[in-house]
Amino acid sequence: MKITDIKPYPVWVGSRNQLLVKVETDEGVYGWGESGLSGREMAVIGAIQHYRNFLIGRDPRRIGALWQEMYRGQYFEGGRVLTAAISAIDIALHDLNAKFLGVPVYQLLGGKQRDFVPCFGHTEAYSQQQLIDNVRLLLSSGWNVIRVGIPHLEREGESEAHIFEPRESIATAAAWLTGVREAVGLEAVLGIDYHHRLSVAEAASFCQRMPAGTLDFLEEPIRDETPEAYEALRSMVDIPFAIGEEFASKWAFMPYLERGITNFARIDVCNVGGLTESMKVAAIAEAHYIDLMPHNPLGSICTAATIHLAAAVTNFAWMEVRTSPTEALNFYDDELFPMQIKLDMDGARFPVGDAPGLGIDVNEELAQSHSFKFWEAPHLVRRDGSYTNW
Ligand SMILES: [Mg+2]
Repeated sequence: MKITDIKPYPVWVGSRNQLLVKVETDEGVYGWGESGLSGREMAVIGAIQHYRNFLIGRDPRRIGALWQEMYRGQYFEGGRVLTAAISAIDIALHDLNAKFLGVPVYQLLGGKQRDFVPCFGHTEAYSQQQLIDNVRLLLSSGWNVIRVGIPHLEREGESEAHIFEPRESIATAAAWLTGVREAVGLEAVLGIDYHHRLSVAEAASFCQRMPAGTLDFLEEPIRDETPEAYEALRSMVDIPFAIGEEFASKWAFMPYLERGITNFARIDVCNVGGLTESMKVAAIAEAHYIDLMPHNPLGSICTAATIHLAAAVTNFAWMEVRTSPTEALNFYDDELFPMQIKLDMDGARFPVGDAPGLGIDVNEELAQSHSFKFWEAPHLVRRDGSYTNW
C-alpha cells in the first residue's frame, strides 16, 4: 500500500476554523485527521505541504517510522506548528490502517480497557446565580464533573472581549466558586480553567481566597514555558493542577510529570503529535500515577481520536467535551460529519464502539465549500493598555 495524496481542508465552522486532513492511498482506503493549532491553520498547512512532498509513495502501515521521519527528518525539529501537522497526519494514518484491517483504532493501541469514556462539561456565566443555575443543570443532567470558565465581567463602557484585569477576575471567581461549592455540596467535581492568564502571585492569591475543598482541579493558572514557575506556585497552593494542552511532545510533558508539577495530564492528541506520541505520554504519566484529562475543544475527528486514546489507556480521568446542556457550539455538524461518535444516551460519556477506524466520516464537498476565514483570538489588554494572555 502507498500514500497517494495528503489533503488539508481548513473548514470554517461558524466561529472558528477546523483543520481537517485526509490521507489517501492506492488501495482506495483513506484516513482523516485533525490539527489542533487553532488560529494558525495556514502555518500548519504549510508544514503539511512539506511532509506531503516526501510522504507520497510511502507505505502508510509504517506509522511509527513515518512519525520519526516527520519529526527527525529536519534540522529544526519539533515545535507546535510542526507537531500540529504531524498530529493530523498520524491520526489519519491510524484511521486508514484500522479501516484497512477492519478494526477500531483502539485495537492498534492495545485494545480497549473501558466500555465508555467519562467526560466533563464546561460552563461560563455572567453572575454567580447564573453559574450556580448552570452547575445545577449539569448535575441534574448527569454531568458530575464540571469545569467553569473565567467569569464574564461586564462593566459599563468597556468591551469585556478585550479587557482582562487579573485582580478583579480572581476576586470574582473565588467568590463565585465558593458559593457554587456551598450550593451544590461535596459530590460534584469542580474545576476552573484560568487559560494561563495569571502570574504566580495572582494564582496563589486566587487559591488562598477559597476554603479548602472548593476546587478539585485548577487548569492552567499560569503559562507553562517555565516549569520552575509552576513549582514555585505548587509550593504556595494545594489544589491539584491540570496542565498540558499546549504541549507539543513527550519532552514538553516530562518535567511536569516527572517532577510532580501537574496532577492531571491535559493532553491534546491533535497537538502533541497524534496517537503515536499520546500513547508515550500516557505511559510516562502512568509511571507517575497521573491520569489523562484530554483537551478536546475541536471537532468530531479530535473527539473520536481522543475517545480511542481514552479507550486504550488505563490511567484516565475525564475527557473534555463541548456538547453539554450548558454549551451550544456548532463544532460537530451532522452534515459535515455524516458519521461521528455521539454522547451516550445516559449523558456525560461516550460509548466505545466497534466501527472500523476512528468511526467518523467527512463530507468532503462540504468541507471544501466551508472555506477558511481568517480568525484571531481576542488580543487582550489590561486597562492600562498593556497586552496580556488570551
Ligand atoms: Mg484550557
